[in-house]
Amino acid sequence: MSDILKDLTEYRIKGIEKAEIEYYQSLTRTLDKIEDQIISLASRELPTQAGQLMELQSAVALRPKIKAILDKEYLPFADRVVRKGFGEQAKRVERQFKTIGIIPPEFQELTKSDLALIKNLKQQYFTQFKDVSNNFTRILSDKVYQNTLVGNSFVELEEELRQSINGIYSTSNDPAVNRLVSYVKTNQNNPLLKARVDLAIQQLQTKYARTRTGENMRRYAGQILNDSLKVPSVAIGSLLTRGSDKVRKAYEDDFNAQLTDQQKIIVNKYGKPERIINGKRGYYKKNSKELSAELNAIDKVKFSRGVTTTQKGVRSFVIAHEYGHHIDYETFTDGLFWSSNTPAFINAIKKDRRAFKGKSFKDLTGKDPDGYFIIAKEELERIKAELAETIEVDLFRKGVKIATRPVTTLKGDGYGEVSDIIDALARGKFRNDLSMWGHSLSYWRRNGSVEQEIFANLFSIRHNEKAYNLAKKYIPNTVLEFEKRLVELAK
Ligand SMILES: [Zn+2]
Repeated sequence: MSDILKDLTEYRIKGIEKAEIEYYQSLTRTLDKIEDQIISLASRELPTQAGQLMELQSAVALRPKIKAILDKEYLPFADRVVRKGFGEQAKRVERQFKTIGIIPPEFQELTKSDLALIKNLKQQYFTQFKDVSNNFTRILSDKVYQNTLVGNSFVELEEELRQSINGIYSTSNDPAVNRLVSYVKTNQNNPLLKARVDLAIQQLQTKYARTRTGENMRRYAGQILNDSLKVPSVAIGSLLTRGSDKVRKAYEDDFNAQLTDQQKIIVNKYGKPERIINGKRGYYKKNSKELSAELNAIDKVKFSRGVTTTQKGVRSFVIAHEYGHHIDYETFTDGLFWSSNTPAFINAIKKDRRAFKGKSFKDLTGKDPDGYFIIAKEELERIKAELAETIEVDLFRKGVKIATRPVTTLKGDGYGEVSDIIDALARGKFRNDLSMWGHSLSYWRRNGSVEQEIFANLFSIRHNEKAYNLAKKYIPNTVLEFEKRLVELAK
């Protein structure tokens, strides 16, 4: 089962990548055609004397012909990208619309506004593509005029025109350059050849003095293509109860940086919290759908008021964590959390807990027929050493050093969330006995707290490879169930 799912996910990712590669290849072909046609147009229609350009009239007459080439070759490319790329998104929204069945009017509006948003984006990107076309009609025409005005050679003009269209990737008289360019063009989307492609680009830049930073059509069109293929970011700034526009924007950026594309699709698809508070305390209240999380949160040991240290701490993905609780709740029925009401997820956690060294006891509450499993302290100590280290830290009061203390510091961003996962498995002993990050012993006795916190923590570190790989190592079966859920939610 898990293999089928993995294959399916990979197949879907490959599908997306394939479409993207196709667009980039299509852009390459389009610009190569334009480069060829512009050069042959110029060589055909600009008279020269002993190789030098001489007739301003012909130079001026070239402008509408340059425009005609760009209109014929480049605009259909832009149209194809915008139509097909956004058409896919629109289809997804419409499919969703159909599967819901009888939809309350307020949700119909939501779907309508989604479609309107896509239409708007379509228009926006097409306009941007078109701007590039207009700008480069002018830039190319100006180059023809300027070079003719000062009587430069056709060879010089040719080089300038080629570079204005394709930049570092333009065709040259030097076969060695063309070999490198064609190698880069063919293989730049192949991750296995990335090192070689980078080397070829480096050679073009250093040995053949081709600059990547100049103004050229390829660079601008490529940038717009890049933007248009991106998953739209999540808008939550307006949900903040207070804060300047700048803070709202920063909050939104912080949240989006804590999400993968797949998670952005999920967050955009489901209802948002009622309100969001930018507060020191992190929480999610299911009844009022109120979310509280601090902007740019840091995990580090705190001292009493007025005491500061030079300790930097690591990033804590608290906005995504609390939003994970919201998703866990919002996507399930009957006012329940998915994580603590889904046997597959609950059992995966139990299985992962029992994979550690430890002892089984009879469950005295009678809740669990499998008994009560306690992870051995040596296992927790081993994990602690992987997540954290102890360093000597200077303490200051009003800028004056008052002491030096050994302090437990986490080794990476998101490791506080990983620590909380271990604390959930150990039901609070990781925090209580080994001073690691987690929750109180009484908190873990609450029904559903273990499953809900593990879900929220996985949701918050999904985007961070190092932290997520650690979670995968500690709770592989749980991670698998979590990933299945994400795939399901993003459909
Ligand atoms: Zn939580």
